[in-house]
Amino acid sequence: MSAALPAPRSIVIVGASLAGASAADALRRQGYDGELVLIGAEREPPYERPPLSKAVLAGKEDESRVFLRPADWYEEQQINLRLGARAVGLDAAAHVVLLDDNGHLPYDRLLIATGAVPRTLDIPGVDLPGVHTLRSLDDARAISVGLTAGGPVVVVGAGFIGAEVASVCRTRGLNVTVIEPLAVPMARALGTEVGGIFADLHRAHGVDLRLGEGVTAIHGADRVEEVVTSSGARIPAATVIIGVGVRPADGWLTGSGLTLADGVVVNEYCATNLPDVYAAGDVARWPYRPAGGAKTLVRLEHYDNAIRQAENAARNMLATTSGERVPYAPVPYFWTEQFDWMAQYIGYAERWNQLVYRGDPVSGAGAIFYLDAGRLRAVLSINRIRDLGALRKLVGAGAQLDSVLLADESLDLRELARRLEVPGQ
Ligand code: FAD
Repeated sequence: MSAALPAPRSIVIVGASLAGASAADALRRQGYDGELVLIGAEREPPYERPPLSKAVLAGKEDESRVFLRPADWYEEQQINLRLGARAVGLDAAAHVVLLDDNGHLPYDRLLIATGAVPRTLDIPGVDLPGVHTLRSLDDARAISVGLTAGGPVVVVGAGFIGAEVASVCRTRGLNVTVIEPLAVPMARALGTEVGGIFADLHRAHGVDLRLGEGVTAIHGADRVEEVVTSSGARIPAATVIIGVGVRPADGWLTGSGLTLADGVVVNEYCATNLPDVYAAGDVARWPYRPAGGAKTLVRLEHYDNAIRQAENAARNMLATTSGERVPYAPVPYFWTEQFDWMAQYIGYAERWNQLVYRGDPVSGAGAIFYLDAGRLRAVLSINRIRDLGALRKLVGAGAQLDSVLLADESLDLRELARRLEVPGQ
């Protein structure tokens, strides 16, 4: 029997974005009716970031559609939304968050949902007008102005954001060069072979891919004019977008006593090492255990994870006995949109020793399965949305599947998943 905790009467969420707003929503839906403060450093109410590198940059999405909830929703839900407010410290012993205006916010439970901030490059010219990173609505607005003015675009880094931005800019008819030190785009997440498929996709659409190269300087008088690469090439640029990854926004927690290790470390209940302090979303590093595999600490920078983990954290913040807590055990998921490809990745594969192709993913219609010692660890599905539920089940089960069966398109994946759910049938 575990001792019962008092139910919280005041909850503070730091970070008013996807994880923060999802947690606030989940708390209210779960019947929490106490004080609820959601504070965020940005001036905008919580909004979706995925459209920023897609429809918003393409000029196709009306900006007003990116907001997560209508403006009056927060008041209706009695959520005290405090925008333009930055947390600068945590006094965990006193149960207080310190704010940049010298304010103190007391809490019974605290959720850290401060997400991530873009990395940049330590090279000359990085501060020139026309050089951007992309994380916020303000970033997207500034980039859009540059794209509308026209001129060549240089994208530094071919991770997901860089690859998406390159695709949107190219689709807008702009000349696009991508500079990436690794051998293929998205190499870290997808591996060299699959990243190579995306390299072909980009080249087929006219992107000038400079792989295996870095950037050494950015030149320009009043604004960016050219980018210099490690091989000495000078590439004309009217707009530069740096997409070299993000780091967790956990600097404000230094010295708080929280365990930080490239993010706020939490356990399977989204709880940190300090009492009553939880974390979720891009800022959190949490234990992922694939079916039949070893536990590994991961920090995912994906939309689906931010929502699900926030909902899980909300539930556990309200638990008054340890028996009421629910472990966070998702099948990770993200998507990316590049040219006419909708690619969806289910699972999490740090390593694999076999890739199985189903259909024709290379031409944009099929799936690639990542297997490790015969177990399905992840799958990348390209333009095959209908199989998603089945794939989640198969990956979630860490299914041991014959590669010939997986590749066989006459075998329905949904049927396979159904069979797997009811052993013996
Ligand atoms: P964030 O969205 O980073 O929000 C954190 C918030 O906390 C920010 O508003 C920040 O200002 C605030 N904050 C930080 N520090 C403080 C502080 N000290 N005090 C107060 N507030 C603070 N994922 C996908 O799965 N698919 C996609 O296609 C996809 N596309 C994306 C495109 C772009 C351009 C970007 C940037 C991200 C994309 N993502 C995508 C990732 C997804 O948007 C993130 O995983 C998600 O936004 C994480 O939510 P979060 O709330 O944890 O963090």
